[in-house]
Amino acid sequence: MFCIFCKNADTEVIETRISDDGATVRRRRVCLKCEKRLTTYERVDRDKLRRGLVIPCEKTTISAEQVESVINEVEQDLKQRETTEIESKEIGNLVAKKLKKLDKIAYIRFASVFRRFVDLEDFEKELKKLS
Ligand SMILES: [Zn+2]
Repeated sequence: MFCIFCKNADTEVIETRISDDGATVRRRRVCLKCEKRLTTYERVDRDKLRRGLVIPCEKTTISAEQVESVINEVEQDLKQRETTEIESKEIGNLVAKKLKKLDKIAYIRFASVFRRFVDLEDFEKELKKLS
């Protein structure tokens, strides 16, 4: 977790709260360098992400390790944001972008399931390339 103010890598969690539905983890942190406080919200459900990736990645060049690393990267990306809320749309977009770099077939499959999450123009361009 990087400090959003001074980019220092050392921040300390001073308070962790889990929302009533258990979906969001809210952390108050303090930067050990500039001592500013920041709040992070984590809404990444790794199991849910993994389930969403299994079918699109089936019989493609993407290995189970790569699926894990996509999940890790998405999680990291989201953790580094200081936003009040992370929409599932954003998560879907991040996943789609990463899949696109790894394997076009997996990307197309993922995008057709999570269609509302991706840039449609971009998606249609990719489809045309394949046909
Ligand atoms: Zn700082």
